[in-house]
Amino acid sequence: MSELERILTEYASFETKVRKMNAALCGPYCGVCTDICCKPHFCQEAIDIPFLSLLRERFCGHLRYSKAHGWLTRTGCALSVGRPPVCYEFFCDTVMLAQGNGTRKYGFTVLSRLLSHIGRIAPGRGHLVEIMNLEDLLNLRYSRFKKRLFQAETAFETLRSFFEKEVMDDKMIFDLSKIEFLR
Ligand code: SF4
Ligand code: SF4
Repeated sequence: MSELERILTEYASFETKVRKMNAALCGPYCGVCTDICCKPHFCQEAIDIPFLSLLRERFCGHLRYSKAHGWLTRTGCALSVGRPPVCYEFFCDTVMLAQGNGTRKYGFTVLSRLLSHIGRIAPGRGHLVEIMNLEDLLNLRYSRFKKRLFQAETAFETLRSFFEKEVMDDKMIFDLSKIEFLR
């Protein structure tokens, strides 16, 4: 398996976990939302950005794009993987205000950055979604991706425990602090 193939496979696996956690935490709000934040110009990124396009072709290539609604369906986003990172970065005020001002709100903020964190492996500290040609994707190094994936996986397990038990100790805060908040 090439380095790019390994990155695609492990990114997809991690995205699936993050998507499921998001759905579990936000479902009560998004399920009754009357002003859904999904917009076709975000959906279009899943086609225009080569890394996201490769993910979509490999793992949900059967899907058809709607000019009017993008990937949005009556049951939510059809993309199981390959969503633009911005789709994970955004939690609206309704969702965030419901978390209060303490650790839970911080937990949501870290959750919103996990996929952006692992994607920041392009040369010059750029992001995977900024790479616009296949040659540059093929030059990506798995070792760099693996390090950031480990940090994100550790933070993810920390968040899973926190959202279950509502307990956060110093080690957990340290693990969450590894996640970058860069744009
Ligand atoms: S994140 Fe907020 S605005 Fe977006 S669909 Fe969910 S409830 Fe609606
Ligand atoms: S979550 Fe899916 S439907 Fe919503 S903007 Fe992102 S790609 Fe489009």
